[in-house]
Amino acid sequence: LEQNREILESILFHMDQGLCVYDADLRLSAWSNQLADTVGVDPEWFDVSKHMSDLIFMFADRGDYGDGDANLITEQRMANLYKEDGFHSHRYDRMMAHGKCVEINGSVLPNGGIVTTYTDITDRKKNEETIKQLALTDPLTQLANRNQFRSSLQDELELAETQSKMVGLALLDLDRFKPINDSYGHPTGDQVLVEVGTRIKDLLSDSDIVARLGGDEFALILPGLTDTKDAIKVLKKIIKIITHPFVINDVEISIGTSVGISFYPENDVDPDELIRKADVALYEAKAAGRGTYRIYDQQVDQRVNAAHKLEKELRRAIKNDEFRLAFQPQFDVTNNKIVCVEALLRWDHPEKGVLTPSTFLECAETTGLIIEIGTWVLHEAALSAQRWQDLGFEAMRVAVNISAKQFRGNELMKAARSALRRAKLDPQWLEFELTEQSIADDQDLMMRNLEDLRKLGISLAIDDFGTGYSSLSQLRAFPVDRVKIDRSFVQGVTKESQDDAIVKTIIDLGRNLNIEVVAEGIETEEQEEFLASLDCHQMQGFKFARPMLKGQFEDWYQSRYEKPKPARKPRKKKVNAKS
Ligand code: C2E
Ligand code: CA
Ligand code: CA
Repeated sequence: LEQNREILESILFHMDQGLCVYDADLRLSAWSNQLADTVGVDPEWFDVSKHMSDLIFMFADRGDYGDGDANLITEQRMANLYKEDGFHSHRYDRMMAHGKCVEINGSVLPNGGIVTTYTDITDRKKNEETIKQLALTDPLTQLANRNQFRSSLQDELELAETQSKMVGLALLDLDRFKPINDSYGHPTGDQVLVEVGTRIKDLLSDSDIVARLGGDEFALILPGLTDTKDAIKVLKKIIKIITHPFVINDVEISIGTSVGISFYPENDVDPDELIRKADVALYEAKAAGRGTYRIYDQQVDQRVNAAHKLEKELRRAIKNDEFRLAFQPQFDVTNNKIVCVEALLRWDHPEKGVLTPSTFLECAETTGLIIEIGTWVLHEAALSAQRWQDLGFEAMRVAVNISAKQFRGNELMKAARSALRRAKLDPQWLEFELTEQSIADDQDLMMRNLEDLRKLGISLAIDDFGTGYSSLSQLRAFPVDRVKIDRSFVQGVTKESQDDAIVKTIIDLGRNLNIEVVAEGIETEEQEEFLASLDCHQMQGFKFARPMLKGQFEDWYQSRYEKPKPARKPRKKKVNAKS
């Protein structure tokens, strides 16, 4: 027995939990060394004269059970200790007055006494809090993350439903953010994201919620709106503030943002539907050229569905090889020689037949699919050029249209090299037609690209010249071989418009800068004569030849060199023949 007592004392001395043993009368009979520290009481306080109610009173008195009369609290707690069927063991945790969170366990002993343990779980609680916090915030920006955003949205919508209020849900996607990571590294990209979060937060009121959903996507919840206009005002401010350059480590970085917004109660009370609709609106904002916002409505849904469908079909078209090239020759009218053949993209759609780029080019550009399609065009054009040389056609360049999108990054150079290599084509027979838009987009990058292409030996032409902003003054700066006067001016000449003067100016400028000038869209004799009178002799247009699919073009070309056929008698129309 004596030995048992020693063991017990040793346990009570060493255990790192607080422990109280009460006898059947609920008098304190033993306690662990750690108890005083765990519950934050002077060790001297504990002695065998203490009753359980003394402990409870002491805790109540210092506020462990909240406000309220300590005597009353003690009475209630003692009364609740035993239920009809006796003592119930219990387990709960409590924030104690000394600032520790303590887990308390009570169980009944065989002799009718009670044992209570006190475990300090402050650290565990803190960790749980942090974990909970981590699960709800974005570690980079400290904004709400997707989880928090989703549950806040649910809460706000429920509240709005009971209070018949309006909620705006905006989704933001940064424009031109992805290249930042590539050019300046991820730490810089991260800093931009943090700064974006701060800028947005500063513009919002306290009740608004801003979240980072991941990558460069952010979301706003604007609760308690009275008018959609108020939300739009906020969006406009945000778009503007994000356009301001970010200065990170002395580097100035410019981005923008596109925004889509949907509203409750105009739309659903279901958070997922509301998110989907804001996303649809965002898709449209991006397609509209970025740096802008769109509000969801049903038409947007239809338009975006159509765009999605087209995108899907385009992907299929790439996979199934549904693209074709049509070729349209450019002539030197002084000797009727073909100097160049422009490759024009066609889509041999399984249901709709052969489509021209007006029906799908925009979609291909906004989705970035133009990169892949453009690479195909390059390969096909180079192979065709080589094939014609092998067939003994006269020497002529093949011109390929290049979208502004294709100029970002160095994909274009790679594609050009591999197309030339595969076709075994001399680069001098390849020409790129660029729009002024690609030149305007990023001048430095463009300059480098142009020079690289030139070095490679590819000719460069500016397409649709005169329609963009860069035009005349900038032409000097770019290493181009040729400009193509836009069809719209050609169509206006000889019609008493200003177009005569514009066309004349472009031709003069070309002559001064030693740049060849090609006129496109020649449809009439008059137009041809007008241009020839200005000494512009390179022409392309329906008057000479329409774009033809490869086989047709080859037939057409070969027939040019056959002996001229004797003039045919005018054929009777079939209708007449029948009747
Ligand atoms: P573009 O580069 O200005 O090409 C000339 C367009 O004018 C062609 O339309 C051609 O069929 C049309 N055209 C030629 N002569 C005449 C004429 O005398 N009168 C009239 N009214 N039109 C004429 P298409 O083939 O529909 O191509 C439209 C545009 O699509 C092209 O304009 C070009 O910007 C773009 N495009 C075509 N192929 C490609 C391509 O492979 N890649 C890229 N990125 N864009 C392409
Ligand atoms: Ca062109
Ligand atoms: Ca053109």
